[in-house]
Amino acid sequence: AAGNPDKRDIEIRMKVIKHKILVMSGKGGVGKSTVSSLLAYGLSCGSGKQKVSVLDVDICGPSIPKLMGVESKQIINSEYGWMPPKTPNHEIKVMSVGSLLNTPDSPVVWKGPRKEAMIRRFVKDTFWGKQDYLIIDTPPGTSDEHLSIIASLKNCNPSGAIIVTTPQDLSVSIVKKEIKLCQELHVPILGIIENLSGYVCPCCDEVTEIFKSDGGRKLAEQYNIPFLGKIPIDTNLGRCSENGKCGVCEHPTTPGVLAIQSIVENL
Ligand code: ADP
Repeated sequence: AAGNPDKRDIEIRMKVIKHKILVMSGKGGVGKSTVSSLLAYGLSCGSGKQKVSVLDVDICGPSIPKLMGVESKQIINSEYGWMPPKTPNHEIKVMSVGSLLNTPDSPVVWKGPRKEAMIRRFVKDTFWGKQDYLIIDTPPGTSDEHLSIIASLKNCNPSGAIIVTTPQDLSVSIVKKEIKLCQELHVPILGIIENLSGYVCPCCDEVTEIFKSDGGRKLAEQYNIPFLGKIPIDTNLGRCSENGKCGVCEHPTTPGVLAIQSIVENL
């Protein structure tokens, strides 16, 4: 590391972050970014009151700033590095290319090397400080961004990856590619979360299975990976996310939030 200043700087930043967790999914729209933000909130609001940061490496489709209510906030350049915006109330640091764009609707059309350089800078130049968790939201599929973030964290003890899927077969079969990617790059898989698993009745909180269920659990068994739990479709969570609010604090007893709390307690 001594001969490579980037590597050394990354190691200095990452040494004081206890757990670095990648959140992955095979397809888009399975609720991966929502789950990333809920995990961050769950860890931060839970009994452990963990110090949490979120890094969004979805360069072309950053949705974390909106989900976490920092959409209008800018990254500040300081002598300690980039100061990421913080979520209202929880002080969760949120780093995303979305916060670097002047207009949120501008497309980012960058090729691999430019994305890679950006991701390395996010890890290296952000003033993360001492943290318990860094939750890293990745784009769907297996792409340049995955290779870049995994390469950046090499030798920095990444804790591993959490894979988000829905209960249906199609999503589950695509997830197998994520599992292979992690295995090939020696990233430990912490477990699988099945999202959009059943529907919470807004009147009585009863959960009804609407899709074929248990795809995530079966996949976990097949690959001998821990099954971390199911999160139902909970309109309270969806609405909070859309408005950049913390669903975990606003609806602490709904089935979706109880599911998140039980997942973070077992992490
Ligand atoms: P992805 O990151 O996989 O593309 P998103 O996290 O952006 O997916 O989620 C897609 C949509 O589904 C969002 O509108 C989000 O609010 C909603 N959503 C995700 N998970 C849930 C859930 N458990 N309950 C209710 N709505 C959800």
